[in-house]
Amino acid sequence: MGAHVMVLGAGVGGSTVATELRRLLPAEHRITLVERAGKFVLGASLLRVIVGERSPEDIARPVSVLSRRGIEVIQAEIEQIDPARRRVVVGSRELVADYLVIALGADLEPLSVPGLSDAGHSFYTLDGAVALRDALSRFEGQRLVVLTAAPAYKCPAAPYEASLLMEWRLRQRGIRGNGSIDLYAAEPAPMGVAGPKVSAGVRDLLAAKGIAYHPDHQIVRADAAHRRLQFANGAEASYDLLAFVAPHRAPRVVREAGLTAESGWIPVDRATLRTRFERVWALGDVTGIPLKMGKPLPKAATFAAGEAEAVARSVAAELGVGEPAAAYSALGECWVEIGDGAAAHGHGDFYGDPAPVVALEPPTGDAHRAKEAWERDWLARWA
Ligand SMILES: Cc1cc2nc3c(=O)[nH]c(=O)nc-3n(C[C@H](O)[C@H](O)[C@H](O)COP(=O)(O)OP(=O)(O)OC[C@H]3O[C@@H](n4cnc5c(N)ncnc54)[C@H](O)[C@@H]3O)c2cc1C
Repeated sequence: MGAHVMVLGAGVGGSTVATELRRLLPAEHRITLVERAGKFVLGASLLRVIVGERSPEDIARPVSVLSRRGIEVIQAEIEQIDPARRRVVVGSRELVADYLVIALGADLEPLSVPGLSDAGHSFYTLDGAVALRDALSRFEGQRLVVLTAAPAYKCPAAPYEASLLMEWRLRQRGIRGNGSIDLYAAEPAPMGVAGPKVSAGVRDLLAAKGIAYHPDHQIVRADAAHRRLQFANGAEASYDLLAFVAPHRAPRVVREAGLTAESGWIPVDRATLRTRFERVWALGDVTGIPLKMGKPLPKAATFAAGEAEAVARSVAAELGVGEPAAAYSALGECWVEIGDGAAAHGHGDFYGDPAPVVALEPPTGDAHRAKEAWERDWLARWA
């Protein structure tokens, strides 16, 4: 008799694990994918939306596409997870799996900072990116501020890339000379897990475009009426247009299931992505994987997708298909777009011991084209 594999979340990790499992497993095994959103949105492309290079339709795909591939797609909010019994409550239904994969990502929590959600645009959502695009194309003010409202967030390159791309957009509009661009970061350095050389490389990219960088600025309050930001270190800043990355948190359903540890995220074995529950795996942004250097593995599609492939092979091997997966190796890459058709390529081994071994190459047109090919490849998976 076939087994029932249930995947929770159809983002980068969940869609990859479900697709890969469907490819590996004979049809007698059932694969169910539960996702609340009707559409998959490619996070990396949100930055291109902000500068008007992509429309929302360009970067979103209906999740239902996956049902044409023999995956049973249930579009609904997951209300409860019982990991010990691999049981999930979805609406009035209770679903039970033989194998459970949790890929529920990270929720954004702008309301956790008083005043923040009214003060600017949360560009990590499609609606927020579209609103920022519209505000940026109308912008006639002096002070553009980009803010990270907590030190850890998915895609550590994204707020830096967003600042550089918006700088480019203002130059295209011929109004860059009119004002300032400031990036206030809660973290001590850009892309800190990748090491001091990468941080210095990103700082140089900002400096070359005249973007002022203020690390170690933890926002405590935003005042939309007076367009003021207050930081924990006593500093204050004014803005005319604010783009921010909201604090992240594991989804409520995951926290209530008792799946999270002190880190706030699901602990997993870093080589196998297994949780402490039998036949339950977790992967992607919802996990907390400590690195030897003390900080966690960054949250990024490059890791969620690699982890998903490893988990699919593990589940298949347990069902007698193929060899058990090799230990997950956390090789990752990303691109920092700087505008003008150029990007800096970052790549490395994030399980490096004693610290990740990561390089950031100088910006080139080839790297920009490689990023575009990566985006196209992702969206083609949903065709
Ligand atoms: C602006 C931006 C730029 C980025 N750029 C890059 C980049 O260049 N390179 C890179 O590698 N990464 C990038 N990322 C990060 C990348 O998008 C994420 O790390 C990746 O999507 C994580 O995959 P995941 O499957 O863990 O989570 P997600 O892709 O977020 O998927 C989680 C899914 O779970 C669903 N879900 C959550 N709770 C429930 C529930 N209760 N019921 C039902 N469904 C639920 C959500 O709707 C979502 O679809 C970027 C992200 C952003 C926002």
